[in-house]
Amino acid sequence: MTPLSQPSPSSAFGAHGSVLVVNSGSSSIKYQLVNPVGGEAIASGIVERIGEEQGSLRHTFGGLTTRRTNPIADHSEGLRAVLAMFEEIGPDLAQAHVVAVGHRVVHGGAVFGSPVIVDDEVIKQIDQISPLAPLHNPPNLVGIQVARELLPDVPHVVVFDTAFFRTLPEAAATYAIDREVAAEHGVRRYGFHGTSHHYVSGKVARVLGRRVEELNQIVLHLGNGASASAVRGGVAVETSMGMTPLEGLVMGTRSGDIDPAVLIHLQRNAGLSVDEVDDLLNRRSGLKGLSGENDFRELHELVAAGDEDATLALDVYLHRLRKYIGAYHAVLGRVDVITFTAGVGENDDIVRARALEGLESLGIAVDPARNEGRKKEPTIISPDWCSTLVMVVPTNEELAIARQAVATIEAAGFEGSSDESDPAPAAAGHA
Ligand code: ADP
Repeated sequence: MTPLSQPSPSSAFGAHGSVLVVNSGSSSIKYQLVNPVGGEAIASGIVERIGEEQGSLRHTFGGLTTRRTNPIADHSEGLRAVLAMFEEIGPDLAQAHVVAVGHRVVHGGAVFGSPVIVDDEVIKQIDQISPLAPLHNPPNLVGIQVARELLPDVPHVVVFDTAFFRTLPEAAATYAIDREVAAEHGVRRYGFHGTSHHYVSGKVARVLGRRVEELNQIVLHLGNGASASAVRGGVAVETSMGMTPLEGLVMGTRSGDIDPAVLIHLQRNAGLSVDEVDDLLNRRSGLKGLSGENDFRELHELVAAGDEDATLALDVYLHRLRKYIGAYHAVLGRVDVITFTAGVGENDDIVRARALEGLESLGIAVDPARNEGRKKEPTIISPDWCSTLVMVVPTNEELAIARQAVATIEAAGFEGSSDESDPAPAAAGHA
């Protein structure tokens, strides 16, 4: 067993130590050892194809990436292989003074509105929520259980993807169906990507030197999964994902919003089973379903080459996105900042420009020179005359989980970091 909780004040990692962030999926474990104060990833990696004939492990430390391929029978073996990598390649986890393990859990249901320290009761409650997220919560739980066994000397903290949206007003969270059915089956809007929306909206305020309480914000998390949120004074008031991460924007392989009667039609008249409809909407829809391609880099090439399916796919994606921006403008009344984040939001200047085209009368525009290229730092991309700032702010869910884990253990009286400030904010600079 690796001794983790021995303080080593003289270590290269500083007196505040580090947090091991774990994201356990059905056949993978992503991990990152994070300095919660400085914000940097000390080491990171991923175990993939757990349970398959040939598994793989990629571990990055000190600028070097080590790859291994071995059969990895289960999550327990996967995490053991990760700990062996830390021992063999580094960094030494005892030296790194790991103060907590932070776990990402997708669905916190109506129960969890903030991070919690794992105990048997918490595990039981996450398990009870699992029917709401059958693809995500069970593998998240396996990861927590395995990590607790292998790393028993440190507190384990769960951070929920839904927690930031527990504040949604009832009018936004309630679906207009029979309320007894809804109550019995937990049918309501929970929202997802909350860790990212929370982190980015907070970061926007810090970068601008403003209090988050003063700002009305729209955050656009555009990755393979995509979601929009409206945040008033730091509090989430609306979000596009629903009871599951399927609702809302057009995504890489997910449909987003669709008339629910389409599902009835497909089951009743086309003979599709429940599982087939699930597969259709989650894996064979979105950009992929429309064009065969869900990576924006490839999609733009197809569009440039005149591919009609790709052109329509991009148009449908942008139309939906603009509709949400307009809707959230109405929800908030006044919008101070619109922020793009995640893989597409941070890297794709075409999507950013087209999403906000023609909105000058709302005080919204994108400056072509400021917008150009990929953004690794928080950047303002609107022209100076705009009443709404448009920004790109890279998300960092691992750091957000690490900081929330530290705050949670400190509130509970464990030893940990006490400094949660960001490093000096990068100038809200122009591109
Ligand atoms: P997720 O975490 O949901 O898997 P990410 O936030 O990592 O997704 O985003 C992945 C997506 O980002 C890719 O599918 C691709 O469409 C887009 N992307 C990544 N790099 C670029 C780039 N340089 N230009 C345009 N799009 C990019």
